[in-house]
Amino acid sequence: MKVHEYQAKDIFSAYGIPVEKYILCHNADEAVKAYEKMNLPTVVVKSQVLTGGRGKAGGVKLAKNKNEVQLHTTDILKLIIKDYPVEKVIISEAVNIASEYYVSFTIDRNTKAVILIMSAEGGMDIEEVANKTPEKIHRSAIDPFIGLPDFLARKYAFKLFDNIDLVNQAATILQKLYKLFVDKDASLAEINPLVRTGDNKLIAIDAKMDFDDNALFRQSEIHSLFEPTEEEKVEAYAKKKGFSYVHLGGEIGCMVNGAGLAMATMDMIKLYGGNPANFLDIGGSSNPTKVIDAMNLLLKDSDVKVVLINIFGGITRCDDVAQGLLTAFEQIKSDIPVVVRLTGTNEQEGRDLLKNTRFKVAETMGEATRMAVELS
Ligand code: GDP
Ligand code: MN
Repeated sequence: MKVHEYQAKDIFSAYGIPVEKYILCHNADEAVKAYEKMNLPTVVVKSQVLTGGRGKAGGVKLAKNKNEVQLHTTDILKLIIKDYPVEKVIISEAVNIASEYYVSFTIDRNTKAVILIMSAEGGMDIEEVANKTPEKIHRSAIDPFIGLPDFLARKYAFKLFDNIDLVNQAATILQKLYKLFVDKDASLAEINPLVRTGDNKLIAIDAKMDFDDNALFRQSEIHSLFEPTEEEKVEAYAKKKGFSYVHLGGEIGCMVNGAGLAMATMDMIKLYGGNPANFLDIGGSSNPTKVIDAMNLLLKDSDVKVVLINIFGGITRCDDVAQGLLTAFEQIKSDIPVVVRLTGTNEQEGRDLLKNTRFKVAETMGEATRMAVELS
C-alpha cells in the first residue's frame, strides 16, 4: 500500500526526520490562503499522487507570489500523472538546494534482508544513474539482529559525505528511517532527494513509502490512509467474496476453479491470440451465489466482451456445477456471451444440462478458448 508524500512526511516528522513545512490544499483558493499563512517569499506547489516522476510530469513548480501559486495550483490540479489524476497539492516551503542525494530502505530478496540504498547522485534521474553508472549506487544489507547502531550508520553516511557534521546528520536520519521502516512494516522508505541546503543542513524534500499489505492488519494507523483506486476497489470486493482476482486489462473475462487451471486458461487465451481480462480463481463448490458474485465482478469491467467459464469437476460434480450456472444466470441480467467448458466427474450430464440454453458449451479447453477468442 502506497501513501502520499505528505502522509509519508507526517510519519517522517513523527520520527524526527527533518522535512520542510507544508500545507495540504485541494484547490487554488486554499493554496493562496496557505501561501499567505506560510508568509514565505517562495514556495513549491507539489502534486500529491500515488506515483513518482511528478517533477518530470510538471507536477512540481516553484511559485514566488500569490498569482503564481494560484496559476500553478490550477494547472497542476488538471494534470493526470501516469493515470493518476491530481486531486490535491501541497504548498511547501521552498528549500535552497546545494546538492541532492538518494537514500532508501527496501527489502532485498537476494540477501533476505532490509537493504540500504544510497547515492550521491540523487534527484529526478536516479533510474538513469542506476542504469548507466551502477557503481554510484551503494547497497548495504542490514543484519536484522544488529540493525543500525551508531558506528554502522556513520560508516554508511561516510559513503555520501566527508564533512563530519553532515555525516552525523545523515547517520541520524538513516537510523530514524530504518526504525520507522521496521516499526511500520514498510516495504519501501525512500528519500529522493535528501537535500543539503546552502547552509549545510540535511532535509528530506520528498518522501515515498510503501507498506506490506499483509501486515496492514496490525498497522491500523497506516491502513486508515488507504485510498483505493477504482481497480483496487474491485480487488477489495473480490477479496471480500473470497476470490483471488487480478485485473489484466483484456476482453475475455475468466472464471475458473483452481489457480493452476486459471493460469493455464490465461496462457491458452494468449496462445489463440486473445487477451484475458483477469485472473479469477473461484475455488471449489458449485454454489450459485458464488457464480453470481463472480459474474458481478467480471461485469464491473466494461472491457469484458465474453466470459469464459472453465471448470474441472473433481469432488465438485459437473452436473452440480451446470445446475448452479443455470440457477445463477436466472438472476444475472446480461446478454454477454458465455462459453462454458466442463470436464471431470459427470461431465456429459453437465454438458447435457446446458444444451440449448444461453451457454455456448465446449468439450475441450482448446475449443472453449478458440470460441471465446473469436467472440471477443
Ligand atoms: P518527484 O519528481 O515525484 O520525485 O518529486 P520531488 O519531490 O522529488 O521533486 C522533484 C524535484 O523538484 C526535486 O528533485 C528538486 O530538484 C525539485 N524541488 C522540489 N522541491 C524543491 C524546492 O523546495 N526547491 C527547489 N529549488 N527545488 C525543489
Ligand atoms: Mn522525488
